[in-house]
Amino acid sequence: MDSPERSAYPEAMPQGFSPLPDTLDCAEILDQLPIALALIDASSGCFVRTNEAFREQFGRPDSSFASWWATVHRAPTAPADAAAVCPELPDSVHREIVESDVYGKDGSQHHIRTQIRLYGKHLLLCFVDLTDSDNRQDLLRQALAEMEARSITDPLTGLLTRRRLEEASLSEMHRFRRFGHPISLIIADIDHFKLINDTFGHPVGDTVLVEFALRLAGECRDLDVIGRYGGEEFVILLPSTPLAGAFTLANKLRTAISQAPFDQVGPLSASFGVAECVAGEDWSSWMTRADKALYRAKNQGRNRVVAAPESAFDERSIKHRNRLDRLTWEDGHCVGDPVIDAQHHHLFELANRLLNLVREAGPPAELHTTIRALVQATSRHFRDEEAILTAVDYPRREQHAKAHRILSAKLDALSSQSALGTLPTSKLIEFLAYDLVDHHALGADRDFIPWLRRASRDEPGVQN
Ligand code: GH3
Ligand code: MG
Ligand code: MG
Repeated sequence: MDSPERSAYPEAMPQGFSPLPDTLDCAEILDQLPIALALIDASSGCFVRTNEAFREQFGRPDSSFASWWATVHRAPTAPADAAAVCPELPDSVHREIVESDVYGKDGSQHHIRTQIRLYGKHLLLCFVDLTDSDNRQDLLRQALAEMEARSITDPLTGLLTRRRLEEASLSEMHRFRRFGHPISLIIADIDHFKLINDTFGHPVGDTVLVEFALRLAGECRDLDVIGRYGGEEFVILLPSTPLAGAFTLANKLRTAISQAPFDQVGPLSASFGVAECVAGEDWSSWMTRADKALYRAKNQGRNRVVAAPESAFDERSIKHRNRLDRLTWEDGHCVGDPVIDAQHHHLFELANRLLNLVREAGPPAELHTTIRALVQATSRHFRDEEAILTAVDYPRREQHAKAHRILSAKLDALSSQSALGTLPTSKLIEFLAYDLVDHHALGADRDFIPWLRRASRDEPGVQN
C-alpha cells in the first residue's frame, strides 16, 4: 500500500480485524492480490491506501475519491453514487455500486463492479474487473489454484486435501522408519462415477461425493487420516496398521458403500487398492503400489478390494485374502463333464453365499445352514466325481479319492468346531476358498480333464 507511514497502519485496520503480528506485512499480502483495492477515509473522502493491483490499473490517485471516480469514468462531475460514498454512512453498511465502465491509466476501458464496505472510519473499495481479459482471468485462476493448494481441507467433502494428506503420510513414514510401526494405505475409487455425472448432472455427482466421504469416515478410527486425493478418488492413511488390518477395513468400507443406496442415484459400488509401506520405499512408490492394486480391482470387475502383493506378505496369502472376498465362476473352470462342472459351480455358489453371510454379518442360523449345505454338497460331489473317474479309467483315481478323504475329514472337523463356536468361521472360509476351491477344484481336478475328453470322444454317437 502506498501509505508513507507504517506506524499508522493499525489505525487503518478495518473494524473487526485484529492487528497482525509485526512479522506479517499486511500491505505486502494485499499487494499480492490480483484485485484492485482502495481504502478511503469515510469523512474526508480521501484515499488512505491503495494496493499494487489498483495502482497498476489506475495509477496512484492524487485527488479525493469523488474526483478520481469522475476521472476514471471520464465524467465532468462525480456521479451521485460516488458522492454517496463519502458522507457518514450507518455502521456495517454493505453497499455495492453497480457495474460501470471505467478507464485505466493506459486508456484501456474496463468493465468493473465496485463493492464498498464500511469499516469504522474507513471504506474498503474492491474493484472486480469483469472485462473478459484472458490475462486477468488467468491471474484469478492462478490465485484460486494457489489458495486451493494451500488449504487444509477440501471444500466439498471437508476431508484433507491431497497436499495435507501427503504431509501427514510423510510424518507417519518417518515414525515407521524410526519405530517400525506398520502403516498402510487404502485408495478408494467410485465405480463408474462418470455415469453418475452424465445421468444425474454434476451437482448430484457432488452430493454423492459428500455422502461417499461420510460413509468412509463413519467406518474409520480417529487416528486414521482420510483425504480426497483427486476427483472421486479418496486415500486413507492407517497408522499402526499392517496390511491384513487395512484389507479388513477396506472390505468394511466396500460394504458401507454397496450395502445401502445413495440419495438420488441409488446403489453404487467402489473399488479399493491396499498397500502396506515397506522398508526403504518412499511415498510415491508406496502410492504407486496401492494404485496398481486399485487398477487390478477395477480390472477384475470392480466392487472389490485388492492388496498390493509386493509387500511384507507373501503372494500366497495375498491371493488367498483377495479370494476370500468373492469367488468368481468362470467358463475356464469347467473340466468338461456336465455333472462335475454343475457340482463345482454349485459349490462356488454355496461358498459365495457363505462369504456374503460372513461379510454382511448375517444371522448365525443361516450361516450354519449354509455350512451344512456346503459340507453335504461337497461329500456328494466327491462321491459322484470318484464314480466318474472310475468310469473313465483315470489312472490316478486312487490318489484323487485319497485327497477327497483328507479334504472331507478336514471339512467335517472344521465345520463342527465352527458350529460349536470353538473356531472362528473365517478359518472355515479360508479352508473352503483356498484349499477346497483354489487348490483342489481349480488345481488337482484339472489333471483328469484329458481322460474326460477322451471318454466323451469314445462315446458312441459323439463325432470328432
Ligand atoms: P471407474 O469405475 O473406472 O473408476 O469409472 P469412472 O467413471 O469413475 O472413471 P473415472 O475415474 O475416469 O472418472 C472420474 C469422473 O469423476 C470424471 C470426472 O468428471 C468426475 N469428477 C471428478 N471430480 C469431480 C467433482 O468434484 N464432482 C463431480 N460431480 N464429478 C467429478
Ligand atoms: Mg477414477
Ligand atoms: Mg471411478
